[in-house]
Amino acid sequence: MAAKQDMPKKTTATPIQKILAKIRPVWITRVAHEMARGVEVRVDFEAQLGRFFDLLEQSITTGDPAWMDSILLDWAKSSTETDLEEEPYQISFLINRMIALTIQVASETLTKQQALDLLAAIIPIYTYGLEVMARYEMEARVAHISSEMEKVQKRMERIDRSKSAFISVAAHELKTPITLIEGYASMMDDLTGQGQATNLDSLLAGMNTGIDRLRGIVDDMIDVSMIDNDLLQLNFQPMQISQMVDALCLEAEGTINNRRLTMDIKNFDGNRQWIYIDGARIMQALRNVINNAIKYTPDGGTITIDGRTLSGFIEVTVTDTGIGISAEDQAAIFEKFGQLGRVDLHSSGKTKFKGGGPGLGLPIARGILEAHGGSIWVESKGYDERENPGSTFHILIPARTVSPDPRMAKLFDTLGKDEDQAEIG
Ligand code: ADP
Repeated sequence: MAAKQDMPKKTTATPIQKILAKIRPVWITRVAHEMARGVEVRVDFEAQLGRFFDLLEQSITTGDPAWMDSILLDWAKSSTETDLEEEPYQISFLINRMIALTIQVASETLTKQQALDLLAAIIPIYTYGLEVMARYEMEARVAHISSEMEKVQKRMERIDRSKSAFISVAAHELKTPITLIEGYASMMDDLTGQGQATNLDSLLAGMNTGIDRLRGIVDDMIDVSMIDNDLLQLNFQPMQISQMVDALCLEAEGTINNRRLTMDIKNFDGNRQWIYIDGARIMQALRNVINNAIKYTPDGGTITIDGRTLSGFIEVTVTDTGIGISAEDQAAIFEKFGQLGRVDLHSSGKTKFKGGGPGLGLPIARGILEAHGGSIWVESKGYDERENPGSTFHILIPARTVSPDPRMAKLFDTLGKDEDQAEIG
């Protein structure tokens, strides 16, 4: 055995060594049985207990309890981070149980005198073990707490950075429409001053565009804070995905024509299925994804909307022939202000090619889908503005055929059935 290699050669056995030899097998089996769950763990544990017992004997023989240090340290080290959180004092507990089991085994196996001799020799070693363990465990605890504190500090630094990021992006985003409104207002002011305020329609329209953009940004900020605080309330009603996609294509018709984009809408399986969703919210999520596909696809490109049914879900895919997304950005874009690195693109342009926004569209889409029990992710070969590898956004929507709200379920029951029949017919 490895532990025995560094021990001095034994001559004839002393009485205490004889006692130890007598209880060794019973003690190992008892402790292993009591303390280890599962056969595999027990076999490994028995080997460790053998080493423990050898060192115990060595400590007693030499009168130096420090022989125990190596195994105690190994045990303390093998106590994982989770153990520290859940069971801070498990090694001390183990030694306490060992003391109790040693007394039990001694009373069963030895004579009274032998038991007394054993305990007199062994208790100081165990006490030493407990002291050492208490010290190791305290040190481990302190190290664990410091590392937890470091993590909290890093998290706070991240929050702080994202707070300043929020302020700079929000200020930048809000400034653009405010400048627009100011410009139109001052032009109107000039015209009124010159007594030429006869036709202000185009100026008013410009002003309204600025106000709409402002409202859009503020609404997005409110939505993000509702999602962050779990306050998004869903109003489940039966809807078909095709209805939403058609409405969104109609909304974007002007831009699609101006930018000579092709919208390829597939009639996929599940497209016309009635499912219970918050139509306005899911439409908002789809709008954000489709508007991005339009924004990040050069003029003349194609956007394909397809999908399929999966067990319990309908998957909608929005594929574009645009600039694509690098692998490292594919997760980041679903975080708030995911496009922060590219502040140069900020223009608040909803559909202009590469007209970046505040970076809230995809986090909102994700929040809405997750609130429904669905999800969203992206696949792209990478970011390349010359080759345009394109991106495919996958949107997984739970296909609830019954409303989560029982009153609604009853109300819409007939509608669903009628429409299903109409479709089958
Ligand atoms: P933004 O307001 O900037 O559009 P989003 O949250 O909607 O914010 O999108 C975050 C970022 O993800 C965008 O700035 C863009 O860099 C990237 N992105 C989103 N959709 C696409 C797409 N279809 N093709 C390429 N990049 C995209």
